[in-house]
Amino acid sequence: MTSESPRRLFSPTCSPAALNRRKFIQLGAAAFLMPMARGQEVTAETPIYFPESAGYRDACRLFNSRLKPKPTAVMPCLTEDDVISGVHWARKQKKNISIKSGGHCFEGYCMADDTLSLDLSKMNSMSLDPKTQIFTVAPGAKLRQINDFLLAKGRVLPAGSCAGVGIGGLTLGGGYGLLARQYGLTCDQLLGLRMIDAEGIVHQCEGEHELLKACRGGGNGNFGVITQFRFRTQKAPSHLYHRRFKVTGLTPEKAKILLETWFVATELLPRDAFSAFVLNGKCLTILLTHTNLKSQGTITAMMKPLEKLVSKTTRYYAPLYPAAIKTYYGRSGPLPFKNACAGMLQGFAEIKDIAESLARHVAKTPGVIWQVNTLGGAIQDPAFAAASVFAHRDCSYMSEIQGYWDDAAGEPIVTKAVDAIQAQLAQHGITRHYCNYPDNNFTNPQTAYFGNLDFLQKIKRQFDPTDLFHHPQGVRL
Ligand SMILES: Cc1cc2nc3c(=O)[nH]c(=O)nc-3n(C[C@H](O)[C@H](O)[C@H](O)COP(=O)(O)OP(=O)(O)OC[C@H]3O[C@@H](n4cnc5c(N)ncnc54)[C@H](O)[C@@H]3O)c2cc1C
Repeated sequence: MTSESPRRLFSPTCSPAALNRRKFIQLGAAAFLMPMARGQEVTAETPIYFPESAGYRDACRLFNSRLKPKPTAVMPCLTEDDVISGVHWARKQKKNISIKSGGHCFEGYCMADDTLSLDLSKMNSMSLDPKTQIFTVAPGAKLRQINDFLLAKGRVLPAGSCAGVGIGGLTLGGGYGLLARQYGLTCDQLLGLRMIDAEGIVHQCEGEHELLKACRGGGNGNFGVITQFRFRTQKAPSHLYHRRFKVTGLTPEKAKILLETWFVATELLPRDAFSAFVLNGKCLTILLTHTNLKSQGTITAMMKPLEKLVSKTTRYYAPLYPAAIKTYYGRSGPLPFKNACAGMLQGFAEIKDIAESLARHVAKTPGVIWQVNTLGGAIQDPAFAAASVFAHRDCSYMSEIQGYWDDAAGEPIVTKAVDAIQAQLAQHGITRHYCNYPDNNFTNPQTAYFGNLDFLQKIKRQFDPTDLFHHPQGVRL
């Protein structure tokens, strides 16, 4: 690990960006003495958006259009110098900092009210070392860009499915997807990073450094601004083998039976496979994917009990991997929604008594989806567990609630149903959650999300003792 003075990062010839950011700092210093210099963009080339600036509303736009963030200012960053300038400005202004990479946070913590939001979405450079196959990437890169870049070279980074998610937030909170049972979470592939702390100092770490461990599952907006990641990559699979099972016209009673059968069946899931149980109204879809043709026999045998209960089963289909993953990319533009983790689970027993009631909520509220995903496999490898703070690795399943609506009238109905489901889960003692699927409803996020709180507090004290990077559900000292 090395620390550098922020001054050394400014190039001696002073790039236009650095110059403009310096003006920004000067502006900040003046505004500290006077009322905030609002409505000003520092320069035309490198604007800082204040509420009165043209462009502020666009700068505040997040993937979840339900959210209407009101940061003090938004500062697009292109370089580490920009980030350092932002840190100094915020300190002078006595403002907290929030950090945006891909802008996909369910609750908009990347752009918290009354903070300076550092927008890293344009910091998206990527490179692959042809000898070591180590991938270096800036936090604003989106999963689509990463897939395009790596698959062209026959490599893959195990990560999430949706195209627009940023590698920054995904990695720092964990990152699961179709390959996680085979290779582990995205954070388990992390070999090194660069971070700018609350003093504006750059840290670079790799190996067994404690900061790296803390950022494997506990790094979202807690300790500083991550400006670069280094990951190991894997050989890309040739195909993604698929099967789907469908049931329509479900009753909540039958949904419960199917869910229990699915839980039992997936206990035998091979490591290269993933499955999801997706209940949408009265319709159930069970998805199965795997990457190794040899797993087909095990999966066919394992799904036999389920096949008897479903109305429609697809035969195996096996598109090439690069084409197949595009079918999971989801929508690229913003949409309003209320999604959240609905429990990290070890098995069916934990929700047995409320499964029918939860299915009833889903059946009666159009737009609400209850999905359970398989975790387990390599995610539970002891070496990954020891090198990270990702919580609840003992849970082989993650349940999530999703709520969507077409017009404003739908929002209160859907969010009320989601809140009711979350309340029921909490009453039933389901309080362990995935920090990348946050919910303002969670009353104790510290224990809900974090596995090793004492350790995380130690790291917070080291890099951000005054809580400059205040995350609404982050590590508290
Ligand atoms: C449509 C959709 C699909 C998703 N699919 C998956 C999936 O398949 N698998 C999965 O695991 N998750 C998935 N997620 C959840 C996703 O992992 C989180 O929302 C993640 O935090 C998004 O990262 P981001 O950079 O896009 O978001 P942002 O909103 O920019 O950031 C999210 C959080 O990370 C912090 N953060 C971001 N960048 C940095 C940085 N450089 N330094 C320090 N802190 C930072 C922010 O402050 C914020 O708290 C999905 C989310 C959505 C909306």
